[in-house]
Amino acid sequence: MSNVTSVINPATEATIAETPIQGVDEVDAAVARSLGAGPAWRAMAPADRARLMRRFAAQVEEHGEELAQLETANVGKAIGESRDEVGMVAEVLYFYAGAVDKHRGATVPVAGGVDMTFHEPLGVVAAIVPWNFPIAITSWKVGPALATGNTIIVKPAEITPLTALRLADLALDAGIPEGVLQVVTGKGSVIGTRLSEHPDVAKVAFTGSTEVGREVMARASGTIKRVTLELGGKSASVIFANADLERAAAATPGGVFANAGQDCCARSRVLVQRPVFERYLGLLADAVDAWTVGDPTDPAIKMGPMVTEAHRKVVAGYLAEGMGEPGGGPVPTHTSGRVPDGPGFWFPPTVVAPAGVDWRMDREEIFGPVVAVIPFEDEEEAVRLANDTPYGLSGTIWTRDGARSLRMARAVQAGNLSVNSNSSVRVQTSFGGMKQSGFGRELGLEALASYSDVKNVFVSTDG
Ligand code: NAD
Repeated sequence: MSNVTSVINPATEATIAETPIQGVDEVDAAVARSLGAGPAWRAMAPADRARLMRRFAAQVEEHGEELAQLETANVGKAIGESRDEVGMVAEVLYFYAGAVDKHRGATVPVAGGVDMTFHEPLGVVAAIVPWNFPIAITSWKVGPALATGNTIIVKPAEITPLTALRLADLALDAGIPEGVLQVVTGKGSVIGTRLSEHPDVAKVAFTGSTEVGREVMARASGTIKRVTLELGGKSASVIFANADLERAAAATPGGVFANAGQDCCARSRVLVQRPVFERYLGLLADAVDAWTVGDPTDPAIKMGPMVTEAHRKVVAGYLAEGMGEPGGGPVPTHTSGRVPDGPGFWFPPTVVAPAGVDWRMDREEIFGPVVAVIPFEDEEEAVRLANDTPYGLSGTIWTRDGARSLRMARAVQAGNLSVNSNSSVRVQTSFGGMKQSGFGRELGLEALASYSDVKNVFVSTDG
């Protein structure tokens, strides 16, 4: 049996690298190195730890184009997106470098003494990362983990390990000590499960599907590990009749087809108030036509291929007839229709309208460039439809009515909502889900809390 995995470029189907399939022994060795590196990392003067993290960020900036090209070659994402994501990685590392000596405890007024709190590092953190945003999501876990004095082991998805491996090299080049940041490669079912169960791993920071997240949580319970789960989504964009319809329609492709729809925040359900439904569809068709599909290294291209052929088939399955929807299956009213010939796992941006609210494609996370457009009558129905999903990750409200935008933002059950914008992720603000989209928050200052335990110390001042 081969002990390497071939890493495939989804736009060319060429093998671009081979990475080791590591097993339980290698994970155990990595955990031992991580444990060994912990005490010195924790004891380092905060200003020195911050300096090393800034050097790490500078390395990422210096190698930004190389990392972006590597991400595009491995994931197939448009190069503009990869450049933005690598830019974000540097920003994340600078942000958390700045937090090292600012994540303070408190003194608490009590009787009989002085009470104070400390944010103690947890120890060894395992980061389990999906294939859709490999380098960005790695940094969301590495930044706060290192800033709070933990050591970390990253397990990238088996099919997209290349940028995480390069990131670990750059950390060493920056002077971050051996063992503080490691990457293990191999199957989730073997090394992901080992990390989730390992008695010396204190926390699992998991991003991936709800199904695997459930399993990670169950395994982690054996040793009461801290767990954060960033899981799937089925987010809605709600467009009211008084919205800037041109702007909402022009923004729709970016909200659902970015990263070829392989985005946990994809607004894959667009709810449109009935009086403007037809006009919106007309505007959307133009916007979808402009959403070009092709060679992801071409900066003019908006969308690359699906990550694998197997995933392309899964996405196509939602559009096949006879999938159980009433009436025998949805028929797309519009597709861009222009995907390259030849190699590559291409799939056209696809609009289905009007889609039924009980269709499989409206209930499940498709994770591809397919959007279901559904009419609604009033605000009450919009809230009901937006919340009619087990997920609660993100969403958008399009309206010019300020009071309505706030009512909607409070009523929709999702961790990250935007008004008149599809942006969900910023370094400075917290990111995470409600309901079965998970719990815990990444990014922002909030992430620091989930990589540390609060210790309370009471010092008696009696006699
Ligand atoms: P996945 O759940 O299949 O895999 C995620 C990671 O878990 C991979 O590294 C995989 O190797 C590992 N893994 C697989 N089985 C495991 C097991 N039994 N124990 C431990 N680890 C295991 O997800 P994916 O297909 O890589 O990514 C797509 C999913 O990720 C989508 O559902 C998407 O919504 C979700 N996602 C969520 C967010 C978020 O922040 N909420 C962000 C990106 C992606």
